Amino acid sequence: MNAWIALPASLVLAAVAWTTTAAPQDGGAVSGGLGYIDSGPTEPDIDAVLRDAHARYEGLKDGANADYIPVLDEVDSELFAIALVTVDGRVHLVGDGEARFSIQSISKVFTMAQVMAQSGPDVIFDGVGVDATGQPFNSVVAIEEYQGREMNPLVNAGAITATGLVQGDDADAIFASIRANLSKYAGRELTLDEAVCESELATNQHNRAIALLMHSYGLIDEHHERAVEVYTKQCSLSVDTRDLAVMAATFANGGKNPVTGEVVLSPDLSSKVLAVMATAGLYDDAGKWLYHSGLPAKSGVGGGILAVAPGRFGIAAFSPRLDAAGNSVRAQKAIIDIVEALDANPYRVHPR
Ligand code: GLN
Repeated sequence: MNAWIALPASLVLAAVAWTTTAAPQDGGAVSGGLGYIDSGPTEPDIDAVLRDAHARYEGLKDGANADYIPVLDEVDSELFAIALVTVDGRVHLVGDGEARFSIQSISKVFTMAQVMAQSGPDVIFDGVGVDATGQPFNSVVAIEEYQGREMNPLVNAGAITATGLVQGDDADAIFASIRANLSKYAGRELTLDEAVCESELATNQHNRAIALLMHSYGLIDEHHERAVEVYTKQCSLSVDTRDLAVMAATFANGGKNPVTGEVVLSPDLSSKVLAVMATAGLYDDAGKWLYHSGLPAKSGVGGGILAVAPGRFGIAAFSPRLDAAGNSVRAQKAIIDIVEALDANPYRVHPR
């Protein structure tokens, strides 16, 4: 399956070089590589697919920047980048790859994974829940319906609860451990976007109310204020689109970062994280997303989305304008098209 994705870059490049020149420079070096040119997309095809999707949606202006966090409304709405990282660590990038933005809710995935790794998956399964709420990501109605139960770690109530479950003596220690964990997935030290953090800490009354409500139902302990503070900081970590694609590729590769080679999570926990992403990664639009893409994914109100093609690649896109559910309009469309073009929907099986 997908033999093309496992090929060393040098071999692919050699084969491509042969196709674009009149005759091979070194017949011996390429003779074994010719067969797979016809057997699936080669590396340049991925670049072309990314370029096509970028060009197709560059002119799309639907949606609007998030503005309930004031500083997010000031981000250039035209920014648009797409990155794909294969499970053998090859990176493809188009568009505004240098643009940095706050990770926002995408961070929830990694904190859920961290709690599972530290305390066992049942702490999430039993203590937070893994079902979709069918409500917006910061819904209080969803909390009230089941007195704080039946949530999931990808909506605010469950995410703040999960952040409160990360081990550490004080807010600084807990945040340092969360930042270190996310950095391992990205393969570089992620830093805080101070402006976003300040803006969000000044306007996060709704999230503080959610945490207090969860505390009232006994699901977050007395450190509920601390849980929101750390949660807000984790949402303010600064990433670029390539970072998100590497982070997604780590899940695609069973918890081993394909760029750094570091094992960050077990394959078993990785599969559990992906299940929750498939269920609730795009909030109450998670079903629509899965219907179109077939991939577990997670969005953030900063405009980023990452998606995981298990065993194949991680993909991410960034564009700040969001739809009504809080998901980037261009990022969703671009990723769906790319998944289609690369035949990466795991539910689509070609009958034998
Ligand atoms: N920090 C944001 C919040 O809690 C994250 C929301 C999101 O990305 N959906 O409101």
